[in-house]
Amino acid sequence: MTPAAATETKSVLLVNISTEKWPPRQRTYFGSLAVRSPEPGEPYAVTPIHACKAIMDLGDKRTHEFHVSAQEIAEDLARELNGDSGEGSFHGVFVAAGPQPTEAELADARRRLEEFQHRLVAAADLEWERTKNPMFITDLERRAARQLGLEKPWLYDPKPMAECPVCAEKIKPGVAVCRACGAILDREKAAQYGLVTTKRTRRDRPEAPSEADGAGKLPESEKL
Ligand SMILES: [Zn+2]
Repeated sequence: MTPAAATETKSVLLVNISTEKWPPRQRTYFGSLAVRSPEPGEPYAVTPIHACKAIMDLGDKRTHEFHVSAQEIAEDLARELNGDSGEGSFHGVFVAAGPQPTEAELADARRRLEEFQHRLVAAADLEWERTKNPMFITDLERRAARQLGLEKPWLYDPKPMAECPVCAEKIKPGVAVCRACGAILDREKAAQYGLVTTKRTRRDRPEAPSEADGAGKLPESEKL
């Protein structure tokens, strides 16, 4: 093997300290790649990343072959895996500088992951304070609280949710009106609060938590 060829096959390690599982990454130059997650008891998992040859289509059946280094690929993957959850998002993936992750690199990743998890928990606390609605708490926030070993009221959903017969949205037991589609679920109760003749235009779906600020204006029937 020539020295040049040896450089081509050089690989780096993508290190992951979170137990999150990701679907395989797709790239035109390597196809599909599964990034490993640590098994229970393992502090981290490594995925070797190799350099690739990429082929650029220049049209007219002409192609240009170029080299993508292992470092470039690994950094691109780490950025993608870490960055999908908003500002400051970090999911415990980094590129090791050497042939093995060092204690300092691992400690730094653990610190960054914990920082991000604390931010997720703080956001969930705020959401819970405003809405008391477990539907507004994301899976990511629940996982963060569990991994930090925190007990939170929003980790559990004590009341079983019913389904709206009209739109199949999950609804709290005993509500007069479906908050998703506006269907009257309890006519008597709705009339009691003057809702039957009032046309509802409000939308308060879980996908739009920003509108939850209006929760204070809800009729009594929905606060139950
Ligand atoms: Zn509905």
